[in-house]
Amino acid sequence: MSIPTSLGAARATQRVHILGAGPVGLVMAAMLQSMPGYAIRLYEKRPTYLRTRMVKLAPYLVADSLSAYAADEVDGDNVAAIFDATELEAGLRARRSVDPKLVTLIQEWSQGFCPLNIIEAGVSAMIDEGGPSPVERVPGNVSVDQAVAMVAPDDIMIDCTGCNSLLRNHLVPEQAGEANAAERNTYTLRLEYAVNVTFLYAAPYQCNEYCKYYKNRGNGQYKFIPAVDRIAQDAGVTHVFGIISVSAEDFAALPSQCKGDLLREQFPAVATSMDRFIEQINAETGGHVIGDIDVVRIPLNLYHARNATNRAWYAEPAGDHSDAGQHAFSKGSVFLVGDSAIGSPYFQSISLGIECAMFLADLLQQGIPMSDVRGQYETRIYKQWLRVYMRSKTIKHSKDIFERLDDTFGVLEKLKIY
Ligand SMILES: Cc1cc2nc3c(=O)[nH]c(=O)nc-3n(C[C@H](O)[C@H](O)[C@H](O)COP(=O)(O)OP(=O)(O)OC[C@H]3O[C@@H](n4cnc5c(N)ncnc54)[C@H](O)[C@@H]3O)c2cc1C
Repeated sequence: MSIPTSLGAARATQRVHILGAGPVGLVMAAMLQSMPGYAIRLYEKRPTYLRTRMVKLAPYLVADSLSAYAADEVDGDNVAAIFDATELEAGLRARRSVDPKLVTLIQEWSQGFCPLNIIEAGVSAMIDEGGPSPVERVPGNVSVDQAVAMVAPDDIMIDCTGCNSLLRNHLVPEQAGEANAAERNTYTLRLEYAVNVTFLYAAPYQCNEYCKYYKNRGNGQYKFIPAVDRIAQDAGVTHVFGIISVSAEDFAALPSQCKGDLLREQFPAVATSMDRFIEQINAETGGHVIGDIDVVRIPLNLYHARNATNRAWYAEPAGDHSDAGQHAFSKGSVFLVGDSAIGSPYFQSISLGIECAMFLADLLQQGIPMSDVRGQYETRIYKQWLRVYMRSKTIKHSKDIFERLDDTFGVLEKLKIY
């Protein structure tokens, strides 16, 4: 990638480098573009948006009241316990500052499941229309060294490069005797190994907890746990996203991705749970699967960055570390936003990332010292992590019990009543 040498903007403006133009990087760029005073560079390695994977945006993203924000029963309790009133108000203010065009798009997309590339293309087109602050697109793959070299003392760098974040483990100086550089600034919890099954279905369908139970009657080791909703573009088409929990041995034997037919041929016991679900909804609705069934094996990890900014480089006493004081990250401000900061397979990660982008844009706009911006962002992200951790553990626990519902002693083994 060739890095432009001149921004072509007045120096009084704040330089912002956004690494990664996935959904979160794009929203981050759109938010800052709508505010005066920034010269934004948006770096992206993919030449076109081709990801058709369906994701669902959470309605809380554009909630304009605290009750709408905390509408989900479990998440609402967590939110009330973790955030104080002024923090919730700050979130509300950040959401209210979002460009109405973006709000309209998010409202459309949150009607149901929506292909990732439709979201990416929609925000991208909005950015191309321009705004008070210029956005310069820089194509190509940014390396760590290039990122470090780009940061001038007052610059802002926002890493939106996704779950394999470019900078996450570079936000703290290398520790003497550290065992694994990949864990330097990352906490990861493996929740389970899973086979994800996705397909479109030609009829409206809903599936609550009773439905999930009855659709799994007769399944032994493998249970098909579906998340079912309409697609955003058509209320008559349902998107089914099913998780089948598998052992580490199964996981190693499965292909990384395949179609439903190959799963039936090579792993019939796993495929039976999927087919039993499909047969039952066919019988109930008279509908049918549209097109291919996509199967992906995936480790379901819950993770977060212990530092979501470069604060640790500032804390490092000059002289105690060979890099401290010299390193670019002990001068500018670096933030992790989106999957680069936190990820959970059971939480709406994309919505969480977009929400954090809105919050950071609002913080930057307040004109407070950058050390305060870094501190407040860290606090916010840590609280979001607590929220995500609590919900993910609750869901995992419920899943563990659900998978043993017909086995009383199996259920008792999973319970911690007091
Ligand atoms: C099977 C599956 C189903 C999912 N379903 C849902 C769902 O229903 N709801 C939900 O909320 N979330 C879902 N997710 C998660 C969701 O896709 C992510 O949370 C979301 O894509 C994160 O957005 P992001 O912009 O942070 O990262 P990404 O989407 O990963 O984007 C990162 C961008 O950075 C670019 N990039 C990376 N490194 C570099 C580099 N060095 N230089 C330049 N560019 C770089 C990449 O090309 C990419 O465009 C799902 C994920 C999977 C795998």
